[in-house]
Amino acid sequence: MYPELITRPDLKVWLPPIGSSTAYIFGNPQDLSNPNIELTCRVHDECNGSDVFGSDICTCRPYLMWGIEHAAETAQKGGVGIIIYYRKEGRALGEVTKFLVYNARKRQEGGDSAATYFQRTECVAGVEDARFQEFMPDPLHFFGIKKIHNLHSMSNMKYDAIVGSGIEVVNRVSIPEELIPPDAQVEMEAKKAAGYFTVDGAKSKEELAKVKGREIEEKK
Ligand SMILES: [Zn+2]
Repeated sequence: MYPELITRPDLKVWLPPIGSSTAYIFGNPQDLSNPNIELTCRVHDECNGSDVFGSDICTCRPYLMWGIEHAAETAQKGGVGIIIYYRKEGRALGEVTKFLVYNARKRQEGGDSAATYFQRTECVAGVEDARFQEFMPDPLHFFGIKKIHNLHSMSNMKYDAIVGSGIEVVNRVSIPEELIPPDAQVEMEAKKAAGYFTVDGAKSKEELAKVKGREIEEKK
C-alpha cells in the first residue's frame, strides 16, 4: 500500500498517511529536532467525553489545555511546543466500553472509589488497558525530536516508551492540583498508586479506599 516503506531506505522514520494521530506545533517545526531549543510536549490520548464535552470524571481536558498553554508559552519565549493527539479513546477500548465502565464505577457497592478504579475496567472489558505505548514515540521521531525539556504526561508507560526509544526527558510536568476536578481525584489517585509520576507520593491501599467520587443521584 505504501511503497515508500521499502523503496525509501534513506528515510529513517516515515509515517504513512493513515488517519489516527494529529500533531499541533507551536513555533518553528524545524526547532523540534534541535535539542538546544526548549521543547514542551504533551502526548495526549483522546478522551471525547472530557476533551469535547467537558466531563469532570477525569483530568483529560484540563491536562490537555494546560499542555497547550505551556506549549504556546514555550514558543513565545523562543522555544517550541508540540501536542500529539492520539486516537486511543477509552484506553483504546473505545467510548462505549468507557461509558459502561463509568456506569459500573458509579453504581458499584460503596460507590466510586480509587481502590477499585482499575478493577471496574477489568470487569467490563477483560483488561485494564488496551493501549500499546511502544509505538507511541514514532511521531516524535518523525519530527526528529531527541530531547523533551518539559513532558506533559504522568504516565509511566508513556515515559518508559519515550525514554526507551532514545529520547531524553528533562522535566516531567504533572497537572497542577488546582486543575484536577474533584470527581477526577478517583482516577488520579488510582493512577498514582499504579505507578503514575508523582512528586508527593502515592496513597496506601487504605487511603485509596477513602478517595470517593461523586454519588449518583437517582429517585428510588
Ligand atoms: Zn478522560
